[in-house]
Amino acid sequence: MNTRLSSLIQPLTQQQPALTASLIELAQINSHTLNPAGVDQVGQLLSQRFCQQLDCDHQQISLPPYQLYRTDGSVMEHPLGHLQLFKKRPDAPLQLLLTGHLDTVFPVDSGFQQCRWLDDYTLNGPGVSDMKGGLLVMLTALSTFEQSPQAQQVGWTVILNPDEEIGSPSSAALLAEQAAQHDLGMIYEPALPDGQLAGERKGSGNFTAIIQGVAAHAGREHHLGRNAICAMAEFITSVDQLNGVREGVTVNVGVMDGGMTTNQVPDQARCRFNIRTRITADEHWCQQKLTEIEAKINQKEGISLSLHGHFGRSPKSLDTAHLALYQLVSTCSAQLGIPLQWQATGGCCDGNNLSTAGLPNVDTLGALGGNIHSDKEFINISSLVTRAQLSTLILLTLAEQAERWRRTR
Ligand SMILES: [Zn+2]
Repeated sequence: MNTRLSSLIQPLTQQQPALTASLIELAQINSHTLNPAGVDQVGQLLSQRFCQQLDCDHQQISLPPYQLYRTDGSVMEHPLGHLQLFKKRPDAPLQLLLTGHLDTVFPVDSGFQQCRWLDDYTLNGPGVSDMKGGLLVMLTALSTFEQSPQAQQVGWTVILNPDEEIGSPSSAALLAEQAAQHDLGMIYEPALPDGQLAGERKGSGNFTAIIQGVAAHAGREHHLGRNAICAMAEFITSVDQLNGVREGVTVNVGVMDGGMTTNQVPDQARCRFNIRTRITADEHWCQQKLTEIEAKINQKEGISLSLHGHFGRSPKSLDTAHLALYQLVSTCSAQLGIPLQWQATGGCCDGNNLSTAGLPNVDTLGALGGNIHSDKEFINISSLVTRAQLSTLILLTLAEQAERWRRTR
């Protein structure tokens, strides 16, 4: 590493204590997706820092509410926190889109709200690696990069969205619109615990099935009832049987409810399920199978099933543009003395959205950690600095190769 470079990124180690304190502060503010006040509190704290440290334009954007189906088929709306967007040098030769999410999966009444040390290097806490640590990595890398003259070659947009953990339903349109205006994407989801990056990612769709049957007294007029729960049981069994039929496609029924009491034939039932896909063509296959199952259930007299939902995220496959970008990331990492690999994952994130919109991106540039989405979530605390160094180096390399990475937009 040359001296100019090391004089820029070596001092980052001195920021470790301040970064750790900031992380604990952010993680201990509950920002579950459906706690918009908490999401906004985290968004505002970060916005102050982004604006102070980066001298950039800032917009706070309201999003449409999140819609969920109730058992009776009506729609319930949940307000979401704001999306924070920052922009600098929109006319520079190379335009990068950096994204991260403000929300976590831990509800406001969950018992997991505080951080604690597991040992000197490992911090346990809600969202520490997914992805409040990643947001600090992003901010630190950008601040360091902005001190270099090469920064003039690069313009960037940062999007911090409030709804990633539910599949980015309300920010998807803005992500796609911004993706089209940039050359490359950098996303700050956590890297795998051993430092590996995610390569290919599965696609994902969320669906809701609602069944309307006929209510009747369980004793006096049982024969007049049409049991919505029994019909739903048949639907669920059929949907579950799709598992193992097509390579890489999985179906998970995650929620079901219906009925009120045992002395009434229930006339309402609902289930929610998720489908993961390996290639885009799987989406069509799944839709066809669902339509067949829907038709079979609807043949039952007195039963009416309606199906809602869609594939919000298509699979992310590694095309040549992605491979070239991954190669650059691993070259940068090798310069820092950290060998890097990537592996396929069934998980998906906004990296899927950006790649569907045509934007090559690397999506696990955040902190090193694991057990995410559980109360055992942890971060390897020194990775706040090492990952900020890696991202700074990637930014500097991209700036030096700005012409190479420009794509026709
Ligand atoms: Zn995440």
